[in-house]
Amino acid sequence: MKKNPSIKCSVQQCQYHACSENYCTLDSIQVGTHELNPTKVECTDCKSFELK
Ligand code: SF4
Repeated sequence: MKKNPSIKCSVQQCQYHACSENYCTLDSIQVGTHELNPTKVECTDCKSFELK
C-alpha cells in the first residue's frame, strides 16, 4: 500500500500502517476521542484504526 505523506503514524499494529515507514496509507482518517472532555493528547484516538 502506498503511504500518504500527509498522515504520519507510528501505530504498527494497524492494518493501514505503511509498515517500513511511519505513515498511514489511507487517503484520510477520522480522529476522535473516548473522553467526555478531552484535555490532553492521550484523550484523542484514530477512529480509522483496524487491527492487522
Ligand atoms: S488508520 Fe490511524 S492508526 Fe491506522 S495507520 Fe492510519 S493513522 Fe495510523
